[in-house]
Amino acid sequence: MVYGLGNAFKSLNTYYQEKTTRIRNSLSPSRPSMSETTAEGSSSSSRASTTIPSTPNMDSTPTVEDPTQNGNNGMSRDEFRQYGKETVDYIVDYLENIQKRRVVPAIEPGYLKDLIPSEAPNAPESFESVMEDFEKLIMPGITHWQHPRFHAYFPAGNSFPSIIADMLSDAIGCVGFSWAACPAMTELELIMLDWFGKMIGLPAEFLPLTENGKGGGVIQSSASECNFVTLLAARFEIMKELRQRFPFVEEGLLLSKLIAYCSKEAHSSVEKACMIGMVKLRILETDSKFRLRGETLRNAIQEDRNLGLIPFFVSTTLGTTSCCSFDVLSEIGPICKENELWLHVDAAYSGSAFICPEFRPLMNGIEYAMSFNTNPNKWLLINFDCSTMWVRDRFKLTQALVVDPLYLQHSWMDKSIDYRHWGIPLSRRFRSLKLWFVIRMYGIDGLQKYIREHVRLAKKMETLLRADAKFEIVNEVIMGLVCFRMKGDDELNQTLLTRLNASGRIHMVPASLGDRFVIRFCVCAENATDKDIEVAYEIISQATQHVLHDSVKAAIAEEDEEAVALEEMVADLNISETPEKVLARQNSANAETGQRLERQLSKEEILAQKQHESLAKKRSFLVRMVSDPKCYNPKIVRHLNMANHRKMSQDLYRDRTLMQTISHSQRPNRLSQSPGSAGSAFFDDDDDRVVADVQTGLQTPI
Ligand code: PLP
Repeated sequence: MVYGLGNAFKSLNTYYQEKTTRIRNSLSPSRPSMSETTAEGSSSSSRASTTIPSTPNMDSTPTVEDPTQNGNNGMSRDEFRQYGKETVDYIVDYLENIQKRRVVPAIEPGYLKDLIPSEAPNAPESFESVMEDFEKLIMPGITHWQHPRFHAYFPAGNSFPSIIADMLSDAIGCVGFSWAACPAMTELELIMLDWFGKMIGLPAEFLPLTENGKGGGVIQSSASECNFVTLLAARFEIMKELRQRFPFVEEGLLLSKLIAYCSKEAHSSVEKACMIGMVKLRILETDSKFRLRGETLRNAIQEDRNLGLIPFFVSTTLGTTSCCSFDVLSEIGPICKENELWLHVDAAYSGSAFICPEFRPLMNGIEYAMSFNTNPNKWLLINFDCSTMWVRDRFKLTQALVVDPLYLQHSWMDKSIDYRHWGIPLSRRFRSLKLWFVIRMYGIDGLQKYIREHVRLAKKMETLLRADAKFEIVNEVIMGLVCFRMKGDDELNQTLLTRLNASGRIHMVPASLGDRFVIRFCVCAENATDKDIEVAYEIISQATQHVLHDSVKAAIAEEDEEAVALEEMVADLNISETPEKVLARQNSANAETGQRLERQLSKEEILAQKQHESLAKKRSFLVRMVSDPKCYNPKIVRHLNMANHRKMSQDLYRDRTLMQTISHSQRPNRLSQSPGSAGSAFFDDDDDRVVADVQTGLQTPI
């Protein structure tokens, strides 16, 4: 089981010193005989053996024959050598010329099904034909996350050292669930979590190699998984305590009382974790900067305790997904401590930025946390997957996840850690290798430069948008994310984003902040430049002009519709009563006449009101347009004039037609009804004029 890491490493050091000496000896002329090894030449794994088996003599071991030498199966070594190199060239060309492609594909769901045979091939196909189809069929369906105009979500880490490390990891092809299953993998992971933890300034209690420490670190596949396993650990811990306190209460009942907390801006994976973990979650309001504050949490805890619930877990976020806001840990931490709640900190995106000391104040209060996670595969140039997670007390994590079948046990369990107890999957990739390659090949300096450059570029975008009266900035721009919206309603902003994404020139995604639709612009490409930001701004600005232009057209069209609706209403008023009804009503008591008149009047008032509103809307749009110089585009104005002219002609034509229809109609007209005019309840000349005026007035050119 998990053992004191300091001790484990002392033992490991001794073991390796011995092992190195033996391997050296085994390779020397006086090496032990092969009889010490197993029949297959592999080392015996029995720890009971006092002799550490030697590595077989590499010189005398024949090279494994290449079963694919004849090229009939898959790929031969020689072919791999050739195609591997060609593929590296392809990768470099792809990344070098990526900006020539659309950022998002122009295809629809199911596009591939019609292009790829419905059955797998029986006969082998050549690499060339597969690659040809890759470019022809797959590439058109790719969203290019490394494209300089990709500004959606958060960055998908990528870099050449990381790709190479992943290639090596794939070549080694190990599945390192335990120390024995691949010692180097477990040990490099420990060391990398120690390095990286120090790099981001985590307190020493979290670091795996702190002398006599209880802390530990692990690489998970995703931040969602980190959120889930920490919730499981917290749940296990509280249930352990509750079982002791209430030994006769059914566990299910205890579980039903547990409640976790997160903010409105926390990632949806927290909600999912609680859903799978079968605990209640209370989603708390944030302040005006979209941050969870201590007071909000304190009040919620108190309210829930009063209801008989048991608060046990708080998931906070440093760098929220929607707007990169930072929950105030320094306020939340002490409350968690007072109430003995497990405090988890999810810094999936922005955690990597803490390698720059100037951002670390955002982490103030981390000393209260029980667990912390960040994804170098987002913002530290590491390819997916690589989510680093630390715990203050590794035993509290593993106690919730340990199952120990015989077939997974090994003889070094008391001196090593087995990462199979730190997460959900058993099998694990060699992910620490890419951290090692990237950290070493960029150095902390290089990585800091990369982060700072992204932050600078995000600020540049913020400045450009702020200087443009068409836009407003909605978040506090602290890292590489800018949330903005064009001034106007949500619908306008949705139209803008749809238009931008459909253009294939840029890709962004929306978020809802304070119940408003906002557009997220994230600096993503590794080598993003000032020029990229300027180009992106230009694309956004132009599309916004178009949206404004279209909305002017739409406003006019809407008025058209309103006019038609009004006509229909007028017509309705005329036809909704049969002559018999009208006669019957006119024969009724005189006392009712006053009321009837009142009703007719109120309908006229409604018409007038509608006309007034419509005009006001049109005018306010114009005022907005003129008050915004960038929006005051001569093209739009010209178009408006033309549109108005066209509309006036249409209106005149329509009014004439309407009048003709009315005058030829035999239907009664309630609008024109007046006491004593019974039987001739149709538009007279005066009434025609009234209706015509009403209609024409609606289209008064601005
Ligand atoms: N937590 C936060 C704060 C995130 O921003 C994200 C994704 O953007 C996640 C969790 C989920 O990340 P993953 O895709 O690694 O599960």
